[in-house]
Amino acid sequence: MRHLLDLSYEEIEAEFASWGEPRYRAKQVFDWVFRHGATEFDAMTNLTPALRARLAEAFTIAPLPVLAERRADDGATVKALLDLGGGDAVETVRMDYDPDEDGAPDRVTVCISTQVGCAMGCRFCATGLQGFTRNLSPAEIVAQVLHFSRASLAAGTHRITNIVFMGMGEPLANYAGTIAAIRWLTRPEGLGLRQRGITVSTVGVIRGIERLAEEGLQIGLTISLHAPDDELRRNLIPTAGGTTIDQLIEAARMYIDRCGRRVTFAYALLDRVNDEPEQARALARRIRGIQAHVNLIPYNPTAGPDLRRPNIGRVRAFLRELQAAGANATVRIERGVEIAAACGQLRTDVQRAQTRPIALVE
Ligand code: SAH
Ligand code: SF4
Repeated sequence: MRHLLDLSYEEIEAEFASWGEPRYRAKQVFDWVFRHGATEFDAMTNLTPALRARLAEAFTIAPLPVLAERRADDGATVKALLDLGGGDAVETVRMDYDPDEDGAPDRVTVCISTQVGCAMGCRFCATGLQGFTRNLSPAEIVAQVLHFSRASLAAGTHRITNIVFMGMGEPLANYAGTIAAIRWLTRPEGLGLRQRGITVSTVGVIRGIERLAEEGLQIGLTISLHAPDDELRRNLIPTAGGTTIDQLIEAARMYIDRCGRRVTFAYALLDRVNDEPEQARALARRIRGIQAHVNLIPYNPTAGPDLRRPNIGRVRAFLRELQAAGANATVRIERGVEIAAACGQLRTDVQRAQTRPIALVE
């Protein structure tokens, strides 16, 4: 059966019109889904029983079943493993930031996945090493956020403020699913999040960046660079192929022009591979003059034995070198490391979870 969120809002309005229902029915239905956390049409008490029955015959709004949930950082990081059926599962992580005196977080970020596996094959990425299984549908992407937003509604706290597309998969290789999900997350009848609170991270699908820039959205863009030169970049991202760093920088410039947003370059730091001071200087030279920020991510050693995380001294030295050369740069604060919730290391844990159940907390 079709999931209702696999249709766009406009398609659902049109469906209601063809049923002879007024347009505002769509708004009522999504009020239940997004603001009351409804997971079945029968809960929608302001619809007639006949309409509820008709909806239930045509569509589902069932959530993804929860296989496990784990907490870290005193509950400020929560990772959920959700069942996609057919032996596939997807992980999604909630991270709370900057609690006030009462412990209520100022910012709540959910990290979501767009594919089962990934075809890009980055050498340092647990997801990449697993290969590609399939794209997630819009409903499956939104379901990851709804999982946490329902919990927020129930608890009356942890209202989601930010979404990062930094889980499993390459969002711009599942463009249709990603953009449909973004529409649901940002439109007022959907979750109604600020566009600026959403960030898409891409390995560098140029056509996808161009399309995203044309959508008229103000969402943030992160481009995963990982190297100051094309030879090393192609070594780390075997599928980078014909895409050059120059093209990526050009795409970033265009995105900044169109969307008025600063672009972030992600750089996974790998010991003695891409973390030498001269590589920092080369990187700074290449991105000079654009409104960009470099986000250094010390490697999470999940992918394989041949790569290592640099020690803190080398991370600091790389950061200092970048800053001295005029680049805007920070080191990403890691969350949930002990429950493998850090973005980019999700899939391996999913697979382990399938053979060896992970501990359920709460
Ligand atoms: N496919 C997208 C988004 C998902 S990965 C992309 O590649 O950008 C999110 C971020 O985590 C990317 O910047 C990615 O390079 C980084 N990442 C993946 N595996 C990592 C690892 N083992 N250590 C550190 N960063 C990693
Ligand atoms: Fe895919 Fe991103 Fe992992 Fe590369 S880093 S394999 S693009 S998920």
